[in-house]
Amino acid sequence: MGLNNLRTLYQALVLDHASHPRNKKGMKEATAMQTVHNPSCGDTVNIFVKVQNEKIVDVSFTGSGCKISKASASMLTQSVKDKSVSEALEMTKIFSDLAIGKEHTSDEIEKLGDAAVLTQVMQFPARIKCATISWWALEQALLKKG
Ligand code: ZN
Repeated sequence: MGLNNLRTLYQALVLDHASHPRNKKGMKEATAMQTVHNPSCGDTVNIFVKVQNEKIVDVSFTGSGCKISKASASMLTQSVKDKSVSEALEMTKIFSDLAIGKEHTSDEIEKLGDAAVLTQVMQFPARIKCATISWWALEQALLKKG
């Protein structure tokens, strides 16, 4: 996909997920939960996961923040549901690497599915944390689970 297309898709998806967030709810039966704050923008994201047999059977989020943080959390829930814990951790690793400016191959980026468009946020360094905090929360929640 060309860079311009990816940019247009990024803007459209961020707007769509920010105004209609998917899986934005608490989860009583969650096996792990993690809250992450982004003081530079004021975003707070709580990620809930339900893991069974090393598989993410359900994932949701609550919190408040800017459009990018909300859209990122919403895309995360869609991207990691029904993935194995190790596949999801691989995805969170790609995001932590992107946040520190490490390059990834297009094969690796493809593993992110729809969430791959979030890599476009790298053009806006001030917003990188907004796009990555929900992934950090997910990583910590999954590691808690062991
Ligand atoms: Zn933000």
